[in-house]
Amino acid sequence: MASSSGLSREPGRVIEEALRRLEEGSLSPSRLEDELGNANLAALVRRLYLEKRYGVNLSSIGSTILDFEDLYGRNIENPIGAVQIPVGVAGPLRVKGDYADGEYFIPLATTEGALVASVNRGAKAVTLSGGARSKVLVDGMTRAPLLWTPSVEEAARLAEWVKSRVAELQEKVVSGVTRHGRLVEVNPFIVGNLVWLRFRFKTGDAMGMNMVTISSDRICRYIEENYPGEARCVALSGNLCTDKKPAMVNKLLGRGKYVVSEAVIKRDVAEKVLKTTPEAIDFVNRVKNLMGSAVAGSHSFNAHYANIIAAVFLATGQDAAQVVESSMGYTWTEVRDGDLYISVTLPSLEVGTVGGGTRLPTQREALALLGVAGGGDPPGTNALKFAEILAAAVLAGELNLLAAIAAGHLARAHELLGRGGLRLTRKS
Ligand code: NAP
Repeated sequence: MASSSGLSREPGRVIEEALRRLEEGSLSPSRLEDELGNANLAALVRRLYLEKRYGVNLSSIGSTILDFEDLYGRNIENPIGAVQIPVGVAGPLRVKGDYADGEYFIPLATTEGALVASVNRGAKAVTLSGGARSKVLVDGMTRAPLLWTPSVEEAARLAEWVKSRVAELQEKVVSGVTRHGRLVEVNPFIVGNLVWLRFRFKTGDAMGMNMVTISSDRICRYIEENYPGEARCVALSGNLCTDKKPAMVNKLLGRGKYVVSEAVIKRDVAEKVLKTTPEAIDFVNRVKNLMGSAVAGSHSFNAHYANIIAAVFLATGQDAAQVVESSMGYTWTEVRDGDLYISVTLPSLEVGTVGGGTRLPTQREALALLGVAGGGDPPGTNALKFAEILAAAVLAGELNLLAAIAAGHLARAHELLGRGGLRLTRKS
């Protein structure tokens, strides 16, 4: 960042001068970092300008531990401060995965009363029953550029040409972009003369959207230069990726981590902890999650994956908009010898332990609580472990909500925990 005003001048004078220029319109609020040469000072001036202009007090937003010198240009533009969201923990939750093995306390950032308590009770039932078994079945982040060709003949030729060159594209293109990203497959889709090339990459411990987008851009250029026919990239994201939108393609082929978590809840645990029976939970799952979702034409055959996904995403610095596809999935139940088998399947769980918001101090601490902060050894193992734990947390939350509905407790829990009832009870 260049400094034209210079911080060598007295800060008070610099702030006054910048505010005067903002007010008279000779300086744009989005130019403050360049003008002042310091992102924290720029955030302060921008906030003071807004406070004066709109007659509001933004001092709470301004109270933050964040260092915008570190975040500006990576995680945020035009900063004025930060919002705070309470973080609670649910656990211990016993998880037995291929990477996770232990008891975990799940950090949940939420303002929704009853959510942490709900996952907490589900975690107790799962843990008392021996824990959740989690498994990642498919691993890979996708990007699907859209290419124009003149005819269906050419579209089919292009698809075959690209499909037979995955190793070449990895070696000649992707390896020059990223050390951790690796192109593993391409799934072409053709409509008329149009071709979508849905590329899937392994992305190590990163969620991967930046590395796959940059790699896909370079691949498109390589195709345009080397394909011996006519093909033109018209959209780097052709919406078949599919990022931040609900889509069947993610559910069928997977995006990020395709992960399953399952448990057998013992009858006595269901009765003592969840105050209901395996049969009642199984019935609620069938009529609500399966039939209700079918009638609604829903993409998600579950009760509330988004509650747990959103709260963990916020606590751990994931891309919040990806809650859309990350919370799609299916809850399946069976009564087995009097106990309850329950599984959650999340075909499109997009998580990382490096990159994006995972580097912010509070979010990194939340990842550290789960033992997954930063890059894994070998790379990729932290993100896989995180996906296994998160799927188990979703299982716990799902189990508890189904049980609460089965027992008729849902409204009472929200009255008590979501509307201050617990606080009032404690005071009296
Ligand atoms: P990133 O921060 O852009 O890339 C990850 C970085 O971490 C790379 O520089 C990688 O090095 C490095 N790294 C170090 N150790 C690693 C390890 N063990 N595993 C993987 N990488 C490691 O993050 P990203 O996950 O690719 O992208 C996430 C960001 O993309 C988020 O901020 C999200 O909001 C944003 N996003 C972008 C788009 C888009 O279209 N561009 C769409 C949605 C979201 P190498 O590069 O050498 O491998």
